[in-house]
Amino acid sequence: MKLLLSTPSLVHAAHCQNVLLAAGIRAELRNTWLSGAIGEIPFRESAPQVWLVDDEMETQAWAVLDAAANPAPGPRWQCRHCHEWHEAQFGACWHCGAARD
Ligand SMILES: [Zn+2]
Repeated sequence: MKLLLSTPSLVHAAHCQNVLLAAGIRAELRNTWLSGAIGEIPFRESAPQVWLVDDEMETQAWAVLDAAANPAPGPRWQCRHCHEWHEAQFGACWHCGAARD
C-alpha cells in the first residue's frame, strides 16, 4: 500500500478513486469518516486519502489522474450495459467494467 494523495474534499478523493478503478488500478479511500475531526488533529492525518494497493502503480496512477484532469477532446460516451456516462479518454466503464464500443 502506498499513499497517493491527500485532499480536503471527500468528493475529490472519491472521484480520484473512481478514475483509478476505471483504469484498472486498485485504490482505496482512507479517513473518509474523520471529516468532523478536522481542526482537532493535523490536516495531513485527518484529510481523506487515496491509497494505491500496488506501490509500483504510482507513475501510471498519476498519468491516469492527469489525463482525467485534462480531458482529451472528444464526445462523452454512454455505457451500453449500465448507461453510465464517461469522458472521452476512458476506455472502459468504471461502473460495470464493460469495454467501450
Ligand atoms: Zn457500465
